[in-house]
Amino acid sequence: MPLPPHAIPVLDHGFVRVLEVMGDDVGIVGAARVSFGNESKGEKADRGLIKYLLAHDHGTPFEMTAFKFHIRAPIFVARQWFRHRWSSFNEISGRYVSLEHRFFLPSTLRTPDMKNKQGSVEGGFSKEEEEGLLGEMDKSARAAYSTYESLLEAGVAREIARTVLPLSLYTEFYWKVNARSLMNFLRLRTEIHAQKEIRAYAVPLLRVFEEHLPWTASAFRELFLSSLDLDPEA
Ligand SMILES: Cc1cc2nc3c(=O)[nH]c(=O)nc-3n(C[C@H](O)[C@H](O)[C@H](O)COP(=O)(O)OP(=O)(O)OC[C@H]3O[C@@H](n4cnc5c(N)ncnc54)[C@H](O)[C@@H]3O)c2cc1C
Repeated sequence: MPLPPHAIPVLDHGFVRVLEVMGDDVGIVGAARVSFGNESKGEKADRGLIKYLLAHDHGTPFEMTAFKFHIRAPIFVARQWFRHRWSSFNEISGRYVSLEHRFFLPSTLRTPDMKNKQGSVEGGFSKEEEEGLLGEMDKSARAAYSTYESLLEAGVAREIARTVLPLSLYTEFYWKVNARSLMNFLRLRTEIHAQKEIRAYAVPLLRVFEEHLPWTASAFRELFLSSLDLDPEA
């Protein structure tokens, strides 16, 4: 099935789609200077002010913006995402609609990282082993979905039938977030300790942020993401 208009593909079936953006860099500067008449003082001074605000944790002017996204992500990614309380969510309900056969299947498998307890590293399996294990994962998701369909056909309510579905199932949600909270998300979720699959979403979100608030994004990168090692596969 084709992706919705303007969706940026992520992982095997996911996407990030910008629905609305409110505010810009000059608006952030205006909010910070409101007591002095709400004026821009030219690009150099405005960029300097933005950097000063970020460096000194004066976060409220960045709250004068809003980004609204449509996201499709596997449930295990959405669970990590929903921990970001300073934002608003609306998610598709498996109580009201039948969930589509759409599961995340990694292209490669990873083994535990011996140095970083919560991390994982590529490799560690022969090609045959990996193919076999990926095949098992695929089979298990298909079997779960087939049980889900059988339960629905037998008349079981959607809210109960869905409980057989795995964490790899894709869900969809709207996410509204201001630039302050988005920067918190990007700082935590582009970072190497975050799981690779959520980092894959953080990268296009960072690009959208850079497109709409270039001065803020540039100062943010310099101050907080200077050592950012963006995953080339993401
Ligand atoms: C690499 C990584 C590993 C993680 N591992 C785990 C894990 O093992 N288990 C787990 O449960 N979570 C884990 N998390 C989730 C993490 O603890 C946070 O819940 C998540 O990153 C959201 O961050 P946040 O609270 O800053 O964001 P938000 O909820 O959006 O909050 C933004 C900011 O608002 C302030 N704030 C929000 N709520 C409160 C409050 N109640 N009181 C005071 N200040 C508040 C804080 O300054 C906070 O930084 C992990 C996150 C990462 C990035």
